[in-house]
Amino acid sequence: MSERPEMKPQMKEWIKGIHVYVPGKSAAADGTPLVKLSANENPLGTSPQALAARAAAADPAAYPDPDSTALRVALGELHGIDPARIVCGTGSDELLNLAAQAFAGPGDEVLFPRYSFAVYDIAARRCGGTPIEAADCDFAADVDALLAAVTERTRVVYLANPNNPTGSYLPRGEVERLHAGLPKDVLLVDDQAYAEYLAPGEDDGGLALAAAYDNVLVTRTFSKIYGLAGERIGWGTGAPGLIDALNRIRGPFNVTESGQKAAVAALADQDFVTASREHNRTVREAFVAAIEALGNHGLRALPTEGNFVLVLFNGEVTAEAALAAIAGAGYAVRHLPGQGLPQALRITIGTAEQMDAVAAALGELCR
Ligand code: PMP
Repeated sequence: MSERPEMKPQMKEWIKGIHVYVPGKSAAADGTPLVKLSANENPLGTSPQALAARAAAADPAAYPDPDSTALRVALGELHGIDPARIVCGTGSDELLNLAAQAFAGPGDEVLFPRYSFAVYDIAARRCGGTPIEAADCDFAADVDALLAAVTERTRVVYLANPNNPTGSYLPRGEVERLHAGLPKDVLLVDDQAYAEYLAPGEDDGGLALAAAYDNVLVTRTFSKIYGLAGERIGWGTGAPGLIDALNRIRGPFNVTESGQKAAVAALADQDFVTASREHNRTVREAFVAAIEALGNHGLRALPTEGNFVLVLFNGEVTAEAALAAIAGAGYAVRHLPGQGLPQALRITIGTAEQMDAVAAALGELCR
C-alpha cells in the first residue's frame, strides 16, 4: 500500500463546520451552583405516576422494546394517530437529526428561520448538507422569507413552533400557507417541542398536515411539559414512508425501558400536564409584566407561547450585566451570543418565587 501523507483519521470537511452544542448552564462562571432557568425544564418536576412507573421499570440488564410499542400505542390513543405512523427517538433531537440524514445530503440545502433551534444547523451539517437561514420578522418565523429561500436544492425545512429561543408562534393559517408553498418533495419538519404549552384548543395544524400529506413530519418531546428531559424521549409522526426512513437509521434500542414506562404513565396523567400549562401561563404573565415595567430601561420581553421568555436588552443595561446580576441572585439563564443574540437572555419560567427573584434582580439593575 502506498504511503499516505496524513496517517490519522480525517474529519469530514462538513463536520468541521459544526460547533459543539452548548447546553444551558447550572453554575456561575466561578463554579457556584445556580438554580437552573436555562434549559426549559418543568419547574413542577415530573408526574408522580410517571416517577412511580419509572422506578418500577424492568431489569436494566435486559434490552428495551426496540419499537417502543406500548408508548406508540398510548401516543396513538391520546392523539388519534395510527401507532404505525409514530416513531420514538432518544429525545426529539435524534428524530430531528435523522430527518435531515434521511432526506438530505451533500449538495442539498436545509432551510430554517433565523433565531431558531440550534440543532437544525447541526443536523444540516451532520449529513453534509448546507444550512440556510431565512430572514426572521421581528424574531419570528416569516413564511414569505422561508418560501423565497426555497431553491431546487432545498430538501428539508425546519420550523420550531412555538420557537426556541424566541417563543414566537406561527398560527395554523401560516403553517398551512408554508406547507402549501413548498414543493411536495421538500420535507417540512414541524418541531412541536413546546406545543403542550399552547392554550387548550390552539393547534398549529401540523398533526393534520402530517396525517394528510407525505411530506410533513411532526416531532414532539417528553422533555418539556412532561418533565422527563433526563430520560431522553421524543416522538414523531408522519406518512409511512417518512416513518420507515427514520426507523431504518435510528438506534435499534433508542428509548430505555424506564423511559418508555415513564412516558406511558406521563401520558395517562393529563392532570399534571394541565397543571403545568396553567402554572406556566400564570407565572409567565406576571414575569412578562414585570419586564414590561422596565421597558423604559430598554428591556423588552418578546411575545412567547413557550415555557420561557426571550428578554432583549436595548438600553443602558446589557445582557452580560443582567446575566451577572441574575447569577448573583442565584439563577442561571441562557445567554445565546453564538446564535446571533448577544443582547438577549432566554429565561425559563420557574416557580413564582424564582421568577420574582429574577425580576427583582433585573429591577435592581435598572434603578
Ligand atoms: N426542539 C426544540 C425547539 C427544543 O427547544 C428542544 C429542546 N431544547 C428540542 C427540540 C429537543 O428536545 P429533546 O431532544 O429533549 O426532545
